[in-house]
Amino acid sequence: MEFEKFIRDVPDFPKKGIMFKDITTLLQDGEAFHQVIDQMEKKYLDAGIDKVVGIDARGFILGGALAYKLGCGFVPARKPGKLPAKTIREEYTLEYGSNALEIHQDSISKGERVLIVDDLLATGGTALATAKLVETLGGEVVAIQFLIELDFLQGRKKLLPYPLHSLIIY
Ligand code: AMP
Repeated sequence: MEFEKFIRDVPDFPKKGIMFKDITTLLQDGEAFHQVIDQMEKKYLDAGIDKVVGIDARGFILGGALAYKLGCGFVPARKPGKLPAKTIREEYTLEYGSNALEIHQDSISKGERVLIVDDLLATGGTALATAKLVETLGGEVVAIQFLIELDFLQGRKKLLPYPLHSLIIY
């Protein structure tokens, strides 16, 4: 299936000059959504994943479905102030601004094998911050999985230490 066909380009969102890759048009197609999760699942069937960490907010949709399929736990990496219990925090820069991510302190145990999932790789700052959070808690980042990779922003370079997979590359 050509997943590209299901991605909607929205120019100048959320800021002028950004071409936003909207995945809601893929998610609303049952067959496309199903195939995306199945394709992601295949790579990790024998990887012994203990936890999928999904990145706020579209990483929750893909990561939640993938964790269910893999039969492992799901952990949200959230924007500041959203998680109710004790958290750790990591600052990062984004293609359009800067932000921070938080994760619950007790969400990952030492030695657990973790798969990080997000919708899109741009500059790589968000995923790198998430990997640092996982490692701070003693988890092992087994791989980082994206639906979309914006190759021209070279985010992959920032994430060199980690196996990285994307289903769509622009
Ligand atoms: P980065 O940290 O630069 O790799 O940015 C990745 C994060 O920002 C992901 O969580 C994406 O959802 C979001 N993002 C960045 N650029 C875009 C874009 N052009 N279209 C859609 N989402 C984007």
